[in-house]
Amino acid sequence: MTNTKHLTTGYVYSDKLLNYRFHDKHPFNQMRLKLTTELLLDTGLLLPEQIIKPRLATDDELLLVHQFDYIQAIKHASHGIISEEEAEKYGLNQEDNRQFRHMHQHSARIVGGALTLADKIMSGELINGCHLGGGLHHAQPGRASGFCIYNDIAVTAQYLVTKYHQRVLVIDTDAHHGDGTQWSFYTDEHVFTYSIHETGKFLFPGSGHYTERGENIGYGHTVNVPLEPFTEDEAFIKTFNKTVVPVVKAFKPDIILSVNGVDIHYRDPLTHMNCTLQSLYQIPYIVKSLADTYTNGKLMMFGGGGYNIWRVVPRAWSHVYFSLIDQPIQSGYLPLHWVNKWKNYAPVQLPKRWEDKLNDYTYVARTKEITAKNYKLAQLITSWYDNREN
Ligand SMILES: [Zn+2]
Repeated sequence: MTNTKHLTTGYVYSDKLLNYRFHDKHPFNQMRLKLTTELLLDTGLLLPEQIIKPRLATDDELLLVHQFDYIQAIKHASHGIISEEEAEKYGLNQEDNRQFRHMHQHSARIVGGALTLADKIMSGELINGCHLGGGLHHAQPGRASGFCIYNDIAVTAQYLVTKYHQRVLVIDTDAHHGDGTQWSFYTDEHVFTYSIHETGKFLFPGSGHYTERGENIGYGHTVNVPLEPFTEDEAFIKTFNKTVVPVVKAFKPDIILSVNGVDIHYRDPLTHMNCTLQSLYQIPYIVKSLADTYTNGKLMMFGGGGYNIWRVVPRAWSHVYFSLIDQPIQSGYLPLHWVNKWKNYAPVQLPKRWEDKLNDYTYVARTKEITAKNYKLAQLITSWYDNREN
């Protein structure tokens, strides 16, 4: 039952993307990408001919966002010839972003994958696509941060502006603030960055306050929606819908780039949100329908965070892809082939169904108060935005 409609959706993947790995015990583990890709292939809904092999981004492409001296430092780190001072200056002395062999190539490949997909969408060969190995939203123009070396989203956004004169909207629903992308375009009017995340009061990187709105000609082209810790599904989705729709309507993007970190899940070990797969399944469909309405469907979906690589990421990211091909949200059993193969490797019990089991879900007593705070913030953001637009 090959559906040719799939063929207008691209899927960036190569086993080489798994080489982006700081060290064996680091929480950022791209094995999740292989798990997701095999799950999708096993459903029969992702066809091998849709897979796009990533190329390496060139230095000129990286320079669209990143500083020359930073790229040089990453190249030095690639070969283990970086000085301590240089490592400290560029954020490579921290456990989060420790240098690893060939880190330049492996990071440039993530960016190259995104650019390949962008070219295919702009040429009309594809309508949309996803690059779940990308989404490294903390990388700054001149500094590594939060597991991120090169910011593939920011480079792609600038590439789309420079090469194709696009108005680009970035919608970031990762649990962490998309700070690297935001600061790359803080004084820019062609790229709008929207980020909904757990408040920086308690979580890395600490920024993303709702008063961060851009500067100079970029003023009003940054929107931040910092949510309370322990926010649950209904409040997340409502707050997201309420704040993202006015942004898309007002900015009128030519293309949307979305960052689909899945670390708002209650089982994610690094954050304090209380959402389930229900939210993670709905979010990409909301973004897809915005793209259908406002950008003629032009849409690139990236990955991002997600540190429960067995029980959360593969099912959640599968729905990023499913939303792109207009496949409804899945229910029932996962492909048996996938479960049987990976249960031998998983250190935890693998899920058997698409639905979250919720046997270990904790309902928070303060839900009402948390929800009320989120809605109040959404109101504040949208009324500021409405007033500005009128
Ligand atoms: Zn994150």
